[in-house]
Amino acid sequence: MAKIIDGKAISNAIKDELKEYVEKKKKEGKTANLAVVQVGNDPASSVYVNNKKKACAYIGIGSSSYELPEDVTQEELLLLIDRLNKDEEITGILVQLPLPAHINEDTVIRKIDPGKDVDGFHPMNVGALSIGEDGFVSCTPQGIIELLKRSDIEISGRECVVIGRSNIVGKPMAMLLLRENGTVTVCHSRTKNLKEVCKRADILVVAIGKPKMIDHEYVKEGAVVIDVGIHRMENGKLCGDVDFDDVCSHCSAITPVPGGVGPMTIAMLMNNCCKNIS
Ligand code: NAD
Repeated sequence: MAKIIDGKAISNAIKDELKEYVEKKKKEGKTANLAVVQVGNDPASSVYVNNKKKACAYIGIGSSSYELPEDVTQEELLLLIDRLNKDEEITGILVQLPLPAHINEDTVIRKIDPGKDVDGFHPMNVGALSIGEDGFVSCTPQGIIELLKRSDIEISGRECVVIGRSNIVGKPMAMLLLRENGTVTVCHSRTKNLKEVCKRADILVVAIGKPKMIDHEYVKEGAVVIDVGIHRMENGKLCGDVDFDDVCSHCSAITPVPGGVGPMTIAMLMNNCCKNIS
């Protein structure tokens, strides 16, 4: 039976460490303040935004909300970001994605001061990651590295296969595994012989966006399986991109959905917010 990697417990431990750090910094008169910008009132986005604000409150990071109507113009949104960039009280800026279709996400991301870009999506931060410089790193893949390290799973020298090449998960995941000296292969929708490639993996990271697509035929006996996917099934329950019940008996360790990668994303966002305490 595989070890179930408890992302909830690990994320709680990280949040407690950050809380202690923030309390210490407060005594030196130093604080962090996150500005959370939401456009429209998509229910899923509102849940994510609320969870982020709750985590800030728990750790002791200040947070302020900017709720803009669905029909706000791109120019108005850019003006707000400009104002937040210049506001010395604000140490981190997060624009909740996705944005409505009339707003160009890339333009908005590029407008955020890279030094306040706690999501790590700005091209300057993406570039810093790829050349091994300091900067903000995308939270989900950063959380996966933390899960592996805190579960004593060796990355160095091991075969790591990432399925998915999105800018938010797949690509930064590959860069981080490389930084940890893994031997990294990235698969995507045009990859041939996906099963064979995946079967090489000692560590298989799955970020496809297809419910339960990965079964035991993709997994080498004893591999570590990290499931990034999150889907709501018809019965209301959540599942990942991995068929958990089928893969479980084949691997040495696996992240569940929910309670695996998901909670780590917020913990790493909080970690990024704490980088700028001054
Ligand atoms: P995306 O849609 O941007 O990218 C999916 C990737 O999968 C693409 O690169 C594509 O090439 C690849 N792909 C699609 N079909 C494939 C196939 N049949 N074979 C091989 N590769 C295929 O998705 P994303 O933003 O990277 O997110 C992936 C999943 O992770 C989604 O379910 C998303 O909801 C979830 N997610 C979870 C968190 C979290 O905090 N838990 C964070 C981000 C994303």
